[in-house]
Amino acid sequence: MRGRGDRARRRTGRSRVQLTYWLEHAWLGTHVEPGVALTVADERITEVRTGVGAPPPGATVLRGLTLPGLANAHSHAFHRALRGTVQVGTGTFWTWREIMYGVAQQLTPDSYFDLARAVYAEMALAGITAVGEFHYLHHQQDGTPYDNPNAMGEALIAAAAAAGIRITLLDTMYLHGGLGRDGHKPLTGPQVRFGDGSAERWYERWSQLKGGGHAVIGAALHSVRAVSAAADGYAAFARWTDGVPTHIHLSEQPAENEACLAAYGRTPARLLADAGFWKPTATAVHATHLTGEDIGLLGRSGSTVCMCPTTERDLADGIGPAPRLRAAGSPLSLGSDSHAVIDLFEEARAMELNERLRTRARGHWTAAQLLRAASEDGHASLGRPDAGRLEQGALADFTTIALDSVRTAGPVPRLGAETAVFAATGADVTHTVVGGRQIVRDGHHLLVEDVPAALTAAIAAARG
Ligand SMILES: [Zn+2]
Repeated sequence: MRGRGDRARRRTGRSRVQLTYWLEHAWLGTHVEPGVALTVADERITEVRTGVGAPPPGATVLRGLTLPGLANAHSHAFHRALRGTVQVGTGTFWTWREIMYGVAQQLTPDSYFDLARAVYAEMALAGITAVGEFHYLHHQQDGTPYDNPNAMGEALIAAAAAAGIRITLLDTMYLHGGLGRDGHKPLTGPQVRFGDGSAERWYERWSQLKGGGHAVIGAALHSVRAVSAAADGYAAFARWTDGVPTHIHLSEQPAENEACLAAYGRTPARLLADAGFWKPTATAVHATHLTGEDIGLLGRSGSTVCMCPTTERDLADGIGPAPRLRAAGSPLSLGSDSHAVIDLFEEARAMELNERLRTRARGHWTAAQLLRAASEDGHASLGRPDAGRLEQGALADFTTIALDSVRTAGPVPRLGAETAVFAATGADVTHTVVGGRQIVRDGHHLLVEDVPAALTAAIAAARG
């Protein structure tokens, strides 16, 4: 089928395809601007024109409010298979983890591709243009590497491409089954799939991963529970991964802090600081139970903190000290983590609303600040500082929400950011564009025909 791109190519005589999108309303970081024309070429925004009252000829029209693409900075794709299942009865974080391990046990590179493709398509439908996949499901059920030792990670990279979104693969070092008062325990049962045996063997496998295009290769330590400071070498990890995004689950549970204090006499944040882990390319995920000193260490280092409020409330983790971290200097990002829901608008407002309940005061963040956490600061924590803004030179990743749905109708368009953050849901997303290519149009995914059916089939297979 011939499109505008073909016409543009014939006109210019070059292979550079140029597209124009006309945005009825656009969020430009500080305010809603009516009538904006974005020109896109080579995956980037090449021009932003304001005051364009009507769509230019040939432009793709995006009605509603267009926002920078959302960044889901913390995901475990296979946890999507637990939705609903883990809401029966009571239990704790630790009993939830046992159910999660049951799903982890079933997956193969093929079935994980199918599941992740469907999950990433769900993300695209919710306006997410990039995912940070915190990946530790590396090996076969008995811990033996696949013939291609990165078969699982490559399945995730391929799944993101098939769903049309960007991925930062945060390939995770996971060597121990837990941290007791007397030190680290070996991996057992379902956990043996996660382990490479040693830090050096993790590094050897990790170095073979290839990024480029839609994929950035990042790295992660699972947690201080799963990697030991001395024997496994946080310092070596920090050296190997210098310059790439590095993430870690930090102090999600008080039990982790207690074990770390008993084993090392230091908090997890301090232990990692002493090894040089914290830097502007590092991200602490959760950071729920921190001391005042921990907050200062993270803030002064410029490390990002990724809050996952819908998961933290689902698992009864607690409320992290987000305002204090921000005041100390840490940018904040957001992730749907266990995918109890996949909705960055819900994550954004939950950060503010949790704080309102805790303090009985309103207004800790503006809608603009919350949108920034859901986009620009999230993309930066995934190694893409050139995404998350509608400006010349930035990646052409954006998403549009309807302003005339039952949830969003009523407020004047200039309150679009407040409407998006405090009233919209992922169901209000009508269009998603990644690298200038439209992957969601009028609420339909253009690459994955029937996303609910794909989820149903992939989750049934993952249950075994
Ligand atoms: Zn996580």
